Amino acid sequence: MLSVAPNSPTSVECLIIDSCGFDTSGVVKHLQQHQCSTQQCSFDLATDRLEHTDFKLIFLHTCFTDTNALSELHYLRQQHPHIPVILFDENLDYERIDESMLWRANDFICPSKVTDETVERVLRYNLKIHQYHTEIERLNQLDPLTGMINRQQFHKELSEQLKQLRKNESASHFALISIDLDGFRRFNNINGYSAGDMVVREMSKRLAELAPGLICRQGNDEFIMLLEVTASANLLQHVTLICNQILHSLTEPYNHHELEVILPCSIGVALAPEHSCETDNLINQATQARIKAKENSSCSYIVFDQKYHLSNEPHVAIEPELISAIRRNEFELFYQPRVDILSGKIIGAEGLIRWRHPQKGLIYPDVFIPTAERTGLIVPIGYWVIQQAGEDIQRLLASNLEIKRLSINLSFRQFQDSYLCRTIQRLIEKYSIDTSILEFELTESALFNNELHVREGIEELHKLGINFSLDDFGTGYSSFSLLQKLPISSLKIDRSFVSGVNNSPDDREIVKALIRLAHSLNKEVIAEGVETLQQLNFLASYGCHQAQGYLYSKPVPYEEFKHLLENGYEITGVSAANL
Ligand code: C2E
Ligand code: CA
Ligand code: CA
Repeated sequence: MLSVAPNSPTSVECLIIDSCGFDTSGVVKHLQQHQCSTQQCSFDLATDRLEHTDFKLIFLHTCFTDTNALSELHYLRQQHPHIPVILFDENLDYERIDESMLWRANDFICPSKVTDETVERVLRYNLKIHQYHTEIERLNQLDPLTGMINRQQFHKELSEQLKQLRKNESASHFALISIDLDGFRRFNNINGYSAGDMVVREMSKRLAELAPGLICRQGNDEFIMLLEVTASANLLQHVTLICNQILHSLTEPYNHHELEVILPCSIGVALAPEHSCETDNLINQATQARIKAKENSSCSYIVFDQKYHLSNEPHVAIEPELISAIRRNEFELFYQPRVDILSGKIIGAEGLIRWRHPQKGLIYPDVFIPTAERTGLIVPIGYWVIQQAGEDIQRLLASNLEIKRLSINLSFRQFQDSYLCRTIQRLIEKYSIDTSILEFELTESALFNNELHVREGIEELHKLGINFSLDDFGTGYSSFSLLQKLPISSLKIDRSFVSGVNNSPDDREIVKALIRLAHSLNKEVIAEGVETLQQLNFLASYGCHQAQGYLYSKPVPYEEFKHLLENGYEITGVSAANL
């Protein structure tokens, strides 16, 4: 006799359901002879049995005199679609068979007529069906592109975990982490969808390596991850660690044919039970935090805060006003002196935009630049800045005031404007701007947002004689090979490190390393946010070239800056002789 499950060490579990006292001993005997193990119960108890045992087949006695038979069949097929149901009855005529087929019965046997051969065929055939259905069910739970569980399955499992949390059955905390790349749509548009698919697959691999827990792709390049942290551990410490690991891993280059692409990413985190124990809420909160992180700066993460619920309101209020601010000429360009550390002399300035609002007064860029970037209004605002800087350079030169550098900030969104280079060229010609004075400050995220595209833009602008500096140096993920390739003449050490040099040994080490790095890359190095003489002395002793910060001056309007230049402003107490 053939075994129906030749490769299986265990027997095939079969459930026999009979609610009307039919003699099933013949069926049971046949099944046992084919290495099946059987359990038997009435229909009322079947649900419970099915919950506790992994049955491969169900044998349902139809009791066709009983009108419930078809509804029982219907129920079983609905609740356990991957388990084949084989009807057995002495009175199965073709009319009943046709009818029960409509209700999706898989097979039929008549116990008194059954032979070994029939049983073997029925078992083989239906076990194959079970195998296919199980496989289909498994595939239905997967995302075809990444092979990870799909969104529906993730939501189901997340809901289950949160349910336990609500019932106080779990002492754990959970962090739901929402992740996506910045500039992915653009990457897709430029490089095609198969390149986009490659990036998504690579992302999923990197994320799975970092956290083997529950991860799924929400859509496009957006992933969500559930991190479980035991109650005794420090939740935020875990979150910080994993977010930094994700940032680090996802900003490694993606290789596409000859191209090495670096795509920054943004991360948002929501905590359960701290923020919510409801699936949709928690996902929504993590998404909001991610959007906030992207607005602030790419390559960053943010943990949800209730105040983001209101975060859409200021955007709505600001957006139309920003449009009229351009028309009504409400922007002003302030200048913060850039000082040569050794001589203490002003060598130039950084132009920083301000919005002189007719009712609200002076508004700082942190309030409106994120909205301007999100809406694309940064493009016309950016042109206004270049034009204003051009005019001011002309005015300074006309007053016989010499400056070596005047820098302005360029947002990564401005590179998405295909007219950027042409428009800048026109402005340069219109204001006869000496391009060797002009410098554009770019952040690391701007540089690596879409390497090829930005790189082309930078090279084209460099041909016009414009200099570039890397802003907020140390906060992002620099590719050193790229830094060497690009025409970047100076690196600006981020204020957050400079402010820490007095009391944080870590920051001191970072600043030293950044200065050394700038020296070895042969770039000028500028420290931002210098507020104290102590900081200045430290920077000077490690060979930092220039400094900018409140120690010298806050950003001031053009006339005041001009006044500082005219008076040959020099900071006392720190000079080459004193250091
Ligand atoms: P940023 O480019 O990093 O500019 C430096 C910021 O640090 C400025 O803030 C400046 O006022 C502030 N700062 C300078 N020295 C000190 C100091 O010693 N201590 C402290 N606490 N702060 C100091 P601001 O002017 O509010 O600008 C904020 C950000 O807005 C800038 O950061 C820049 O990213 C952006 N931004 C400003 N103007 C423009 C612009 O014209 N275009 C674009 N795209 N972004 C701009
Ligand atoms: Ca800057
Ligand atoms: Ca900066």
